[in-house]
Amino acid sequence: MPKEHITCLIIGSGPAGYTAAIYAARADLKPVLYTGLTPGGQLTETTEVDNFPGYPKGITGPELMEDLKAQAERFGTHVRFGMITKADLNANPKRFMVDETTEITADTVIISTGASAKWLGLENETRLRMNAGGVSACAVCDGFFFKGQDVAIVGAGDTAAEEATYLSKLCKKVYMIVRRSEMRASKAMQHRVENTPNIEILWNSETEDILGAEAVEGVVVKNNTSGEKRTLNVTGFFVAIGHKPNTDIFKDQLTMDELGYLQVIPGSSKTNIDGVFAVGDCADKTYRQAVTAAGSGCMGALDAERYLASAEIH
Ligand code: NDP
Repeated sequence: MPKEHITCLIIGSGPAGYTAAIYAARADLKPVLYTGLTPGGQLTETTEVDNFPGYPKGITGPELMEDLKAQAERFGTHVRFGMITKADLNANPKRFMVDETTEITADTVIISTGASAKWLGLENETRLRMNAGGVSACAVCDGFFFKGQDVAIVGAGDTAAEEATYLSKLCKKVYMIVRRSEMRASKAMQHRVENTPNIEILWNSETEDILGAEAVEGVVVKNNTSGEKRTLNVTGFFVAIGHKPNTDIFKDQLTMDELGYLQVIPGSSKTNIDGVFAVGDCADKTYRQAVTAAGSGCMGALDAERYLASAEIH
């Protein structure tokens, strides 16, 4: 059977991918978007989204993603459930494998594969996270729900320090659970945390369990030097132990930093390979917001459109 050839392939279905699709479809690039294993991406795992412009009353993450999908489809985007499992970006045309079985080719590709938050892996963490029970990996998204309450955050990098500081402005008390006797975060961020009166740092501490049937009611923490256990009476549990960009299949082809974030020419979505554009969280370790992802998705589509109009393709 002949391989399917696509003009503009979009990989990933978060705000970056769908926004790229809206622009690409309106520019008549006939985009085909493969959703990946989590259609809608990270936002489908959050509850209320109150910081996406245009929704004065807020919207749930899953609803927002359904709206973005519908908008992309309205202009003719083909949205398909499937995973791109292999990519040969230097081939001409570029070659891809879908679900390990079907080969397709494309003139241009917009990569919007996102990043996945890392989790501790505790059973109750997963259960309460899935039930929107007060376990979150995004303080900026969910901190508001814990206004005036006590919360805990685990992690000791810049993200954890930044999010602890953010939470301290909303919450009564923030416990920061740090597994070693020092933090990885920059000195400036550490000082900010240490000088915030309502943040208590628990050094050498690990999370043993998260309590609560429907919602977080407490967190059991163990000191890994003394063995002492303590239950923190908190209603929110934030995990900030890093993100992993979903870029493994592009290794050895695209330039990425040591953490795997794709590198683009600043002010554009261009990667080191012509016709390959990277947008959203897979190329952004700093902002990681739905709206910044959406904005970069627009850039990706405009860059792809210009690329296709250029002499090399036609
Ligand atoms: P990092 O990888 O830098 O830090 C992860 C933190 O989580 C570390 O302190 C690590 O502990 C801890 N951790 C990892 N696994 C576990 C676990 N199982 N249990 C408990 N703790 C755990 O991730 P970040 O998201 O903080 O930062 C990613 C990158 O983004 C960094 O380069 C950072 O500098 C950058 N960044 C910059 C910001 C800024 O400049 N404003 C803001 C946010 C991020 P340990 O130290 O013991 O390994």
